[in-house]
Amino acid sequence: MKIICIGRNYLEHARELNSPVPSEPVFFLKPDSAIVRNNAPFFLPDFSNEVHYEVELVFRIGKLGKSIGERFAMGYIDAVALGIDFTARDLQQHCKEKGLPWEKSKAFDGSAPISRFLPFPSENHPDEAGLCFHLDLNGKTVQKACGADMLFPPAKLIAHVSRFMTLKTGDLLFTGTPAGVGPVSIGDHLEAWLGEKKMLDFWVR
Ligand code: ZN
Repeated sequence: MKIICIGRNYLEHARELNSPVPSEPVFFLKPDSAIVRNNAPFFLPDFSNEVHYEVELVFRIGKLGKSIGERFAMGYIDAVALGIDFTARDLQQHCKEKGLPWEKSKAFDGSAPISRFLPFPSENHPDEAGLCFHLDLNGKTVQKACGADMLFPPAKLIAHVSRFMTLKTGDLLFTGTPAGVGPVSIGDHLEAWLGEKKMLDFWVR
């Protein structure tokens, strides 16, 4: 399986990083070795001095598809979760300045903690608009958004990405992070909620 991540999908986050607002989705990949499950701790890597949290809505692909039409795209999702797109911001900044790929800063081992999955779409959530989520760092809310705030909704993301690469059952789509990103340190406690449901609860080691 592969992890597809979207960059700059919330206006305020693009602004806080002084990134241009994209006219089409920006995406990059993480390998399966990035995944951390079951609230296992996140180990700070030794190659960065500034690792940022980015909480994101994650959709799981439920069937194989290529060049998927936007109006059929929601039928390719079978579950939703929350994930953290950990980013070595110092390395990413260096890559951006040099015009290099982002993989070193985004795709390292352990960089994608993922929660349990909930069925989606569902009766309560026929689409992404009402999926509201927030991240608490050491008990204080640092990021907060709803699916309705995305620049490109998941149907558009799936249509766009699947023009370039086949989506397979079990692939994960990280849909970008809202404003409020910041650094983590050893001993930090991260908790993420989807609506009233606590989805992630883990420590930085
Ligand atoms: Zn991200």
